[in-house]
Amino acid sequence: MLSCFLDIKREMTDIPETPMERRFGYQPNRRTLIKIAAGLLLAPAFGGEISAAPAPVFRIRNKYSPENPKRAQRPSTKYIILHTTEGAEAGALHVVRRGGLANYFVSKSGVVYRIIDKRKIAKHAGRSMWDGLTTIDNYSIGIEVVGYHNKDINDAQYDALRELLRQLQSLYDIPDDHVLTHSMVAYGNPNHWHPYKHRGRKTCGMIFAQPEVRARLGLEAQPDHDPDVKAGRLKNADKKLATFLFPEIPKPVLVASTESSVPPPPPKIEVPDESLVIGNSNTAWEIARDHYNHPSTLYTFPNGTQKSGDQIENWNRIPPGTRVTLNEVEDENYEGFLEIGKDGDTAEELAGELYASSTTIYFFPDGYIRTGAELQTTGSGRALLKKTPGKTLVLVGYVYGGRVKASRPAATIAGRKWNYPSTYYRFPDGRILSGDDINPKKIPPNTFIFFQQ
Ligand SMILES: [Zn+2]
Repeated sequence: MLSCFLDIKREMTDIPETPMERRFGYQPNRRTLIKIAAGLLLAPAFGGEISAAPAPVFRIRNKYSPENPKRAQRPSTKYIILHTTEGAEAGALHVVRRGGLANYFVSKSGVVYRIIDKRKIAKHAGRSMWDGLTTIDNYSIGIEVVGYHNKDINDAQYDALRELLRQLQSLYDIPDDHVLTHSMVAYGNPNHWHPYKHRGRKTCGMIFAQPEVRARLGLEAQPDHDPDVKAGRLKNADKKLATFLFPEIPKPVLVASTESSVPPPPPKIEVPDESLVIGNSNTAWEIARDHYNHPSTLYTFPNGTQKSGDQIENWNRIPPGTRVTLNEVEDENYEGFLEIGKDGDTAEELAGELYASSTTIYFFPDGYIRTGAELQTTGSGRALLKKTPGKTLVLVGYVYGGRVKASRPAATIAGRKWNYPSTYYRFPDGRILSGDDINPKKIPPNTFIFFQQ
């Protein structure tokens, strides 16, 4: 078990084993050294054995995803994003491995599994934004913890996650307030209830915004507001969730220390109530979020009839008392393509004020591809922007890289983003492939490449 610990330590930090590591199984920090020294001094006085406080054993194993070899390396690592599986361990592990949906997976027993190499991109945050940066997968390590967004994790998971965070934070120099939850960074596109880009798309991992939970994980600081809502890039669609994610933390009050020094019991974790029944203040969106109109979401009306999310046409006419059944579905990854008629009816609804920008790219159903800026320069183009045909696909915030050729390979166009999952290739036959599915030697002539700014 000790060898497991040594194994992770060296794997994580890429530093050679030191005498300290051989002695203690890890390189103790200053605070720990003081504790160990105190233990050594005190031990003989009590006639006991010489022993440092037993640290919980950190168990980590390889369960790499078949996607791992294909994934690109991240250019930088600014954040750690915490997730809850919202389902039982076996099924969640299978899904996460198959899709390469996290870098690490923390099981119920506290064993940590490596899913995607820590230096590579895991698809875990989907449509996401933090402090103006989008597609946070490209800048973060994703950790899936078996559990639910509104339930506390167990002691073994606390021990494992605390140690995993400690190692990753020190390795990548990530401050405590850059350890975020998926619910903090996820955002939604305009929909029936929120006709603007909005925060509140997910509740995933929200338990890790609770100050008491963070304290147990060794995290002392947390973000006190949503930078993208504050800057007006997103609107807040869920006040209750925002209050939970960004709690007002009372400033410590200095009082004379004459009172007893017994620490107060840890406060109970309170998460907003959640009901799966539609009522006047509980809409389908609040219950199912992004999956409200998904085929896997089932609506059972008070008269017993059932419809799936994609069969419902009028969201204003769902009777109160309708029960919503959610099924585990994988998230769509990346902002990816938006579609006219599905994500909105006009170019402006999809791309907002960027609809005529050179970084908004339109893929018309007849195969025509143009940027918003190009369309804006001609009369027929402007007409297409005004009345964009249904099923037109739109990429927002992308660079149109032009044709890939033998003399102009993808890596010279998109740089290190050539094989990012968020980079897209459009083949001459109309197929669109993601960067992590591309064999650079088999890109046919006349393939176009599109990568995020
Ligand atoms: Zn998540």
